[in-house]
Amino acid sequence: MLRAQRGKESKERFLWTLEMACETECRPLGVFTCQLCALTAPYSYVGQKPPDTQSVVLLEESYVMKDPFTSDKDRFLILGSKCSLCSRLVCVGPECSLFYSKRFCLPCVQENIDAFPQEIRQDLEKRKVPSKRPASQPSSRT
Ligand SMILES: [Zn+2]
Ligand SMILES: [Zn+2]
Repeated sequence: MLRAQRGKESKERFLWTLEMACETECRPLGVFTCQLCALTAPYSYVGQKPPDTQSVVLLEESYVMKDPFTSDKDRFLILGSKCSLCSRLVCVGPECSLFYSKRFCLPCVQENIDAFPQEIRQDLEKRKVPSKRPASQPSSRT
């Protein structure tokens, strides 16, 4: 009985397996949006220990996506996380947040700048310098 439709069934089975795999692995949980720079990206995991990574424990609860540029299973990108003060979602970009034992969005850092050590302040001063990089890299779309 099964044998008669094996070809079809195994194909369906295969697709189903793929779908199941995707459900746990590559289906994004949602879309991460940085509340400061409006960066958006689909994330597939939130927490401190991304799946498929061996002995990786993040210092903070982070929004994580699989690295789309590699098929390597345990490569992932940290998109951002919550500011520990105002709990805004911010990306890890240097213009949006910094990590100093916890994640802080830059507005919160500015507000509480006295609470941060000098090295952080200096670092921020550096960040303020507008880095005008001309977008000269041609996109190599074919
Ligand atoms: Zn941002
Ligand atoms: Zn904040």
